[in-house]
Amino acid sequence: MNRKYRKTIIAANWKMNKTAAETRDFVERLREALPRNRRCGIVLCVPYVDIAIAGKLLRESRISLGAQNLHWEDHGPYTGEVSAAMLADLDVKYVIIGHSERRSLFCESDLVVNKKVRAALDAGLRPILCVGEDLDQRQLGVAPELIAYQIKVALAGVSAEEMRRVVIAYEPIWAIGTGVSATPEQAGEVCAAIRDILHKLYDARVARSTTIQYGGSMNEKNAAALLEQEDVDGGLIGTASLDPEKLLAIIQAASQDEPEEC
Ligand code: PEP
Repeated sequence: MNRKYRKTIIAANWKMNKTAAETRDFVERLREALPRNRRCGIVLCVPYVDIAIAGKLLRESRISLGAQNLHWEDHGPYTGEVSAAMLADLDVKYVIIGHSERRSLFCESDLVVNKKVRAALDAGLRPILCVGEDLDQRQLGVAPELIAYQIKVALAGVSAEEMRRVVIAYEPIWAIGTGVSATPEQAGEVCAAIRDILHKLYDARVARSTTIQYGGSMNEKNAAALLEQEDVDGGLIGTASLDPEKLLAIIQAASQDEPEEC
């Protein structure tokens, strides 16, 4: 991480977990134990049905509320869907877009991801845009091209000014929910490559100031080493974020001083 140029953000992705009562219990425990010296942004991306209760409990807490998906239209005949305007109305600040589970299980294409990024920005939300390769793509050596393509399409029509509100999460699919994280070097290398892509698509300011998270089996044990990488500006955390103690330990790791340059 490099706090001089960009914000470090720890975001929890609860996926399809936690009832309203469990949400209340979690937020109360997190708020009680949150370190005073924390030096990172914290976002809880909760299921739609927990947004109202989480929003109420997070008021005046400096923990931001996030969602895990949205529909790109404002309103209309889209049974079961939720729009960006509806999320903004509930004080949601961040929204995960293009998670690999949405891409693979719900057939979300890069073009759909782009429409969702646009809808989020138009409603004043901050997208957490997920990109990443699967194991075959990594082994074939096509991950750099694939990630560049995912980013280029997802950010089509997004201005340099709007990039101030975009967070990118590098999430190698082979590391998500497997317990096998990328090594710090692998995570750092791809996050640095993403910064280069942003430089080519935009400019040095956007490349330097965009928060790029790593996600994929980040936990209380490996977070410090992953976050030591200069280009890893936080984490998107699934499994470990379901336990407030583990999330707190990751927040602590993200609040340490940056490593000295040698
Ligand atoms: C995720 O789904 O975004 C994620 C990183 O999950 P996990 O931490 O469980 O790998």
